[in-house]
Amino acid sequence: MEHYVFAPPGVSAVPVSGGGLFPVRRIFCVGRNYAEHVREMGGDPSREEPFFFTKPADALVTEGSATPYPPATSDLHHEMELVVAIGMGGTDIDEAHALDHVFGYAAGLDMTRRDLQASAKKAGRPWDMSKGFDHSAPIGDILPAATIGHPASGLIELKVNGKVRQSSDLSKMIWSVPETIAYLSRQVRLGAGDLIMTGTPEGVAAVVRGDLLEGMIVGVGSVRTKIV
Ligand code: MN
Repeated sequence: MEHYVFAPPGVSAVPVSGGGLFPVRRIFCVGRNYAEHVREMGGDPSREEPFFFTKPADALVTEGSATPYPPATSDLHHEMELVVAIGMGGTDIDEAHALDHVFGYAAGLDMTRRDLQASAKKAGRPWDMSKGFDHSAPIGDILPAATIGHPASGLIELKVNGKVRQSSDLSKMIWSVPETIAYLSRQVRLGAGDLIMTGTPEGVAAVVRGDLLEGMIVGVGSVRTKIV
């Protein structure tokens, strides 16, 4: 057998509440999935087709770990989101069976270099460098669906230094979790280990070094990180 020319990279993994590690394959993110956030970004929240971007699996920051302030930005934003953890892959998954593919859920942050995203939008360029940078995906522990079920409503909230910055309800998502899974599985093959960040509600804003971010989703879980 051929040998690797250097040690292969390790597997990124999210701790599962109750024990075990969820190995991460890919991180997908849904854009513009809460009407009020679409409006605050200057968009029109009429129900356009969902669109997706990705972060590398090794952008993951696990619960309680610090998030280093990234280079090349002076406008790092928080986006508090429900994260869906796929336990069984598939293509052309139909909406009625989409939740059978979910292992569990977590609270997560889609950290965004907003200045780079704004210039990419303006120039019609990709979002990779604004969304998929190192340490751009702090995600709390995964709670298995076998324990918590499949939440379709519930408060989603982010506090920065104890003050509420984002507050909404999962029921306000434009595309539901089953719709998102079904749609995404018609674009790419979903695999066990995929995470889907389902979009952020309104209230996104900049953070600075020293800020403590504490997000929670009622019935799902929490995420906590300090910007350093
Ligand atoms: Mn987002």
